[in-house]
Amino acid sequence: MKSNKIKPAEIKSPSDPSLKKLCTSLHRLAFDLEIPSEGYLYPWPQTQLELCAQYGVFKWFLEERYGGFGWNEEELALGYLELSSICQTTSFIITQLTGACRRIAQSLNDYVRDELLPGLLSGSHVSTVGISHLTTSKQHLSQPVLRAMETEKGFLLDGFSPWVTGATQADTIVVGAEFGDGRQILIVVPTHIPGVKIDSPDQLVAFSSSHTSRVNFEQVEVDAKWLLAGPIENVMSRGIGARTGGYQTCTLALGLAGAAIEFMITESRNRQDIVPPAKALKNQWNKLRKMLLDSTSSRQITRAASLRQQCNSLVLRATQASLAVAKGSGFVFGHPAGRWCREALFFMVWSCPQSVINGQLYQLAEILPE
Ligand SMILES: Cc1cc2nc3c(=O)[nH]c(=O)nc-3n(C[C@H](O)[C@H](O)[C@H](O)COP(=O)(O)OP(=O)(O)OC[C@H]3O[C@@H](n4cnc5c(N)ncnc54)[C@H](O)[C@@H]3O)c2cc1C
Repeated sequence: MKSNKIKPAEIKSPSDPSLKKLCTSLHRLAFDLEIPSEGYLYPWPQTQLELCAQYGVFKWFLEERYGGFGWNEEELALGYLELSSICQTTSFIITQLTGACRRIAQSLNDYVRDELLPGLLSGSHVSTVGISHLTTSKQHLSQPVLRAMETEKGFLLDGFSPWVTGATQADTIVVGAEFGDGRQILIVVPTHIPGVKIDSPDQLVAFSSSHTSRVNFEQVEVDAKWLLAGPIENVMSRGIGARTGGYQTCTLALGLAGAAIEFMITESRNRQDIVPPAKALKNQWNKLRKMLLDSTSSRQITRAASLRQQCNSLVLRATQASLAVAKGSGFVFGHPAGRWCREALFFMVWSCPQSVINGQLYQLAEILPE
């Protein structure tokens, strides 16, 4: 039977009015993600992601030759600022799904591109990333947590990837693994192949609906046809690996801070005492937004780590200020201010290089860096 539903217009640029329409729909659905079902499993934002696919969001991230709209970094920042001010969970999941998508597109592997890109663009195939154990997780351990060995057919993976968002929903995962001699690979692992065991999603301080799990690889043999990069040393700092962190984390932090600040501004219309802090936070937000857009467009670059620290500071302060404005009502489940505060904490741990963590610690302890 033919569906009567009219397909929404795809969002072809950040100024496209369809972006506001998508945000309105996401706003209506945002609270649903806060309510767990029996067994404390929080709902995966299926409807939200289907909407994003219909509105062409997954196409923003890919070049036109792969069927995408080829948005540049500044346009992506503008798109993410809107989405993340409405639904952080959906926006965060999209960063991980499109992280996989872009690494696949930028690889030199025609087989993987032809096989996966059409489904990734339409939203019918879900891929995510398990790479942080090569960058910001488990770096203090003497042994890599996910080891690779070459076999006749391809590679044998053994160990685990500690954090994989959307793992329970994924058809494939872009995984990083390390050889005994220090070389590393990035490879697509289909989740149905023998030995891939996905833990139940973690219950998190926020974003439990992101279904983030540890994924175990028990002697998993992966065909060489799925290889994206390597074997090479520091695969994450070269070529297709070189896109972790960057300005994306800043953008989502600013999106969230923006939501909290807009709430304060609305409240300040009837409450004079709130006007100065609301205005001050809005000014800081405007300044950081400009720095972000100047950096993503290369007009004037601020180092990602420095901008990250400033955005982290703003999102923590702005969300807590919104809670103070909402008072006890904001502390009641269902009010967005409480959720914003929990979500802001994520920026202290998400893809955070040690330099940013140290900066945060010194700031919290109110001491100047040495
Ligand atoms: C909700 C969520 C979703 C995520 N999604 C993804 C994803 O989809 N894909 C992905 O690749 N990554 C993802 N990440 C990973 C993320 O980007 C970071 O890599 C991660 O938060 C780092 O935390 P960790 O506990 O693994 O750090 P670790 O540095 O491994 O710390 C683990 C523990 O070791 C201790 N420790 C740390 N350093 C030392 C030291 N020098 N000496 C002794 N002990 C130490 C710490 O106290 C800590 O308790 C996600 C993380 C979260 C929280």
